[in-house]
Amino acid sequence: MNGFFDPPEPRRVPPGEYPLRDEALDLVNRDLAATLPDRKPLRPQGVPSFHEDESEHVCVTLANGDWHGDFMDPDSAYDPALALAAVTDAAQETVAECLWQAWPVCGEHGLGMHPREADGRLSWWCAGNGLPGGPAHIRAAVGGLDGLPHPYRPERKRRRTG
Ligand SMILES: [Zn+2]
Repeated sequence: MNGFFDPPEPRRVPPGEYPLRDEALDLVNRDLAATLPDRKPLRPQGVPSFHEDESEHVCVTLANGDWHGDFMDPDSAYDPALALAAVTDAAQETVAECLWQAWPVCGEHGLGMHPREADGRLSWWCAGNGLPGGPAHIRAAVGGLDGLPHPYRPERKRRRTG
């Protein structure tokens, strides 16, 4: 994706500069800690625009600065729902592409989940495995994966499959 020129120097976005995105990233980082406990929290990073009439772009990076995907919609800085959607998408893209793994994974079905609106809250949706007992379902609201029972307890989770 990088061109023939040096990318502009990124800037670490200090806390409080985009409070709505900070709140959203706190939620997503809670899910990261619950699912990938070895990973340090994701953080926002500003990248100067190539065009002088545009403000900087903001992305979500791993602790080491790696990131992938698109910049966040500028409007997401000013609307809580947009902020959560943008941060969740950006975080998921960065984790999945930079770490080469589906994230977050449903603890019941082992499938990568996707953000989806449910009962007015952005939530992690799993497609299920198509078997009885495994239909598509909402796993938890974004930020709520740490409140779930510990994943992988086969002796408790196993269901009769016949
Ligand atoms: Zn599932």
